Amino acid sequence: MRRSVRVTAIAAACAIAGGALYGTGVATAGDNGKVTEAKHSSEPYNIGKLVTEIDTYYGTTKDANGVYQASPDSAYAKDTASVLDEAKKDIKPLAAKGLKKGEKPAIILDVDDTLLLSLDYEKKTNYTYNSTTWAAYVDQADRPAVPGMTGLVDYANSKGVEVFLLSGLAEAQRGSAVKNLTADGYDLNLATDHVFLKNKAAPPAYLSNCATATSWTCTTVQYKAGTRAYVESLGYDIIGNFGDQYSDLEGGYADETYKIPNPTYFVS
Ligand SMILES: [Mg+2]
Repeated sequence: MRRSVRVTAIAAACAIAGGALYGTGVATAGDNGKVTEAKHSSEPYNIGKLVTEIDTYYGTTKDANGVYQASPDSAYAKDTASVLDEAKKDIKPLAAKGLKKGEKPAIILDVDDTLLLSLDYEKKTNYTYNSTTWAAYVDQADRPAVPGMTGLVDYANSKGVEVFLLSGLAEAQRGSAVKNLTADGYDLNLATDHVFLKNKAAPPAYLSNCATATSWTCTTVQYKAGTRAYVESLGYDIIGNFGDQYSDLEGGYADETYKIPNPTYFVS
């Protein structure tokens, strides 16, 4: 993921979330003590309220180790489950269709907040991305699984569907990612030809339109769609593409796309 282009509009105001969250001139107390709303043409949604709504959505609680966890009966878990229920319904007929054409059925999944939940990092950083703290967090390799995702992988395996991972994590983070996915109980082929990570130092030939060893200009969509095209060139039919960002899902080379909920950041 190109975390460097994440939109972190929520960050600045969250830094003062402990105090008043008043924008300049948003509200003023008049002589009669009533609050008068200033006229704004397009006042954005209140960040303090949004953070509360996000906590409610995930059913965020701090566990005994001080780690923020999503509740298994949260709206987040339910929304994710309904996406995965749809996908499971699709997998069998789509796999059959691909096989008819002589193609091997496959699904492809993003990693960050599609398989591994980063809620603890987002919450503790007030939803503010920082490359150094993010790298340290990934290296801990202790993120919990996104609810329902181990079950989806098991289901795909049971239907003879090949499972590939495609992440914006850097090649240097491969060891941490593999360790974390294994610890969470994912039954995956985690070999290098099934887990595609961003290798800026030695990009693959199939990304030559936007990446060389000395210059990487691939957008997220170029990187991800280009990699999916490569997987399909190997004789696979990608019947489902799963990601928490729209940039995971755009660019084609998948029969169906499945958006996993993530209201905590945006990756263009
Ligand atoms: Mg992601």
